[in-house]
Amino acid sequence: MKAAIIGAGLGGLLAGAKLSKAGYDVEIFERLPFIGGRFANLEYKGFKLSTGALHMLPHGSRGPLAQMLREVGADVTIIDSEPRAVIRMANGENIAFQDFRKQFGFTEKVKLATILLLSRKFKPKNDISFQDFISKYFDDEFLLRLANSFCGWSLSLSAKDVPAREMLEIIDNMYNFKGSGVPLGGCGAVTSALADVIRSNGGRIHTKSCVDKIITDEARAIGLGVNGKTVDTDIVISDVGHAQTSRMYECSDYAYLEKIKKVKPSKGIKTCLSSDEPLIGHSGVFFTPFAERINGINEVTNADPSLAPAGKHLTMSHQAVVSDDIKNEITLGLLDLKHLFPDRKYEVLLIQSYSNGWPVNRFSSGCDIGNRTPVCNLYVVGDGAKGKGGIEVEGVALGVGNVMKDIRLM
Ligand SMILES: Cc1cc2nc3c(=O)[nH]c(=O)nc-3n(C[C@H](O)[C@H](O)[C@H](O)COP(=O)(O)OP(=O)(O)OC[C@H]3O[C@@H](n4cnc5c(N)ncnc54)[C@H](O)[C@@H]3O)c2cc1C
Repeated sequence: MKAAIIGAGLGGLLAGAKLSKAGYDVEIFERLPFIGGRFANLEYKGFKLSTGALHMLPHGSRGPLAQMLREVGADVTIIDSEPRAVIRMANGENIAFQDFRKQFGFTEKVKLATILLLSRKFKPKNDISFQDFISKYFDDEFLLRLANSFCGWSLSLSAKDVPAREMLEIIDNMYNFKGSGVPLGGCGAVTSALADVIRSNGGRIHTKSCVDKIITDEARAIGLGVNGKTVDTDIVISDVGHAQTSRMYECSDYAYLEKIKKVKPSKGIKTCLSSDEPLIGHSGVFFTPFAERINGINEVTNADPSLAPAGKHLTMSHQAVVSDDIKNEITLGLLDLKHLFPDRKYEVLLIQSYSNGWPVNRFSSGCDIGNRTPVCNLYVVGDGAKGKGGIEVEGVALGVGNVMKDIRLM
């Protein structure tokens, strides 16, 4: 059986590794000269920056992505974050995630524990936002700020834009899989290990190969148009999102097209800093609920010093974009960094903004529409087709797992 994959981002490579391991003849077509999409390394001044991600796996060595990497035999070492997270309070005090409940009185603590416990079994049925969910049960300013900081760092959204149902799935996964981790060598180490698996199973990956057409026959995909040539196939996996995929063939399922039209991508800004001394000094997520724009920061060199030249640290901040004025958003983010690290010396290496065709998420979290398409042997993987409650690349792995179940490979 032949599987043709559009795009060599994390989703396409994970699907390729699973299918090639199961004996499929896999061929991947990537339009860019490099593989990895938004999960690739970007070498700059001796630093390993990235095309997208902050080099963080949201659930570290225990999560769905790590599990899938082990299953396919990808050679990746993941360093789990320690502590899991630290929260910067309004007075400048830093408190570990485990201690944050100290902020609440006894009644609030019991309420928080009960709701989190119950929500694992009974997810809210209506589509209330996570912000409204918190306001309804807690009416607590700090918890709301923390929710915005968490949603901004992990999903590039404000709590008002995340359905409570999705957020409670995420909390559930945090109980199951625990906290984040950094792959040794950064994002690029993960995507190149997957490419090695695919090639060692006989698969082929073509870069500079743009797919412009999915050829269908009676609602079945039978081939791809790539650089003016036709490639025959038995199954197509697309890693370019539902919207772009639907434009590659004559899609006449209007309900599906309407669903796609309604969903918005999420936008973000990442700022990469270099310093001689550590700015945060640990490998966990540094949440900044009282900053104006920055939602969270990671100093990945505390987990993997090879991500920076000897004696340097690499720190990456992330902020959801909350207005259309990107320049102003960047200015406010840089001001936050000044306030968070007063009297500290650092150099801004790179500021990257993500929107439109290269967003943080093609579909904002909680709005994913699954992996199936109106064409029975055409599946979509990657972000925009994530599994439930999966933060970023963990959701990408869960989504790929769902496709494999559908084509009965698990
Ligand atoms: C700023 C930022 C920070 C992030 N931080 C994290 C993080 O720390 N942890 C985390 O888990 N996630 C993070 N993410 C999200 C994560 O990077 C993405 O979810 C993930 O990389 C998406 O992978 P994908 O395979 O869905 O898509 P992509 O990486 O976009 O891959 C799609 C590929 O398809 C190719 N392509 C497109 N069109 C065609 C065509 N017509 N023909 C052939 N190829 C084509 C593209 O060139 C690309 O290589 C972050 C994202 C951003 C932007």
